[in-house]
Amino acid sequence: MADRILVVEDEALVQDMIRLNLEHAGYQVEGASSAEEAWQILALRPADLLVLDRMLPGMEGVELARRLRNQGNGTPILLLTARADTQAKVEGLDAGADDYLAKPFAMPELIARVRALLRRQTSARANPNSREIRLGPWYANLDTREALTNEGRVTLTEKECGLLAWFVAHEGALFDRVEILENVWGMDSFPTARTVDNYVLRLRKLFEPDPDEPRYFLTVRGRGYRFVRE
Ligand code: CA
Repeated sequence: MADRILVVEDEALVQDMIRLNLEHAGYQVEGASSAEEAWQILALRPADLLVLDRMLPGMEGVELARRLRNQGNGTPILLLTARADTQAKVEGLDAGADDYLAKPFAMPELIARVRALLRRQTSARANPNSREIRLGPWYANLDTREALTNEGRVTLTEKECGLLAWFVAHEGALFDRVEILENVWGMDSFPTARTVDNYVLRLRKLFEPDPDEPRYFLTVRGRGYRFVRE
């Protein structure tokens, strides 16, 4: 059965354009012109995904996202933001949106984002133990190596993913660089301790709110590294 998408957008022309394109891509689409209307529709007919405009009359899109998440509703949300405003993106993702798209956008990109979110949802359902790590507004899936980061949507390299998985599995513990090398890179390869430093810098660049003031991937001076989440 076709996935059901609810498009929440107050500008009629934009809503129509999005609906037509999604229908053309094979989805079953419904529209709402306000967050209040979307809330009522969702109470009657759950959707598989929400395309949610941030700027709506009355309740804002971000507020709707927050209310749905507070209610335990995990429907994937693609948030449409008016501009590539970092603050707006972070606010939206913090409220529980899964991805964002800045207006104006190209329809093929919207369709691609929708498809990717639905695919994630399907694989998460098929594999409830899929290892997804959330760091603030960002996430990384250790199975698919897909991640949403400071640099947008990226595919992590095998070693970036391996190091991240190692840190998460040993949260709070302190390791020196040689221990990390032996466990993540293996004894049969010949990287140097500097390799670990470079990879930690890379993870910080991808996931830290401020890579210069790490809050997850901590340096313990003269000892090594420790990973913590709030
Ligand atoms: Ca709007």
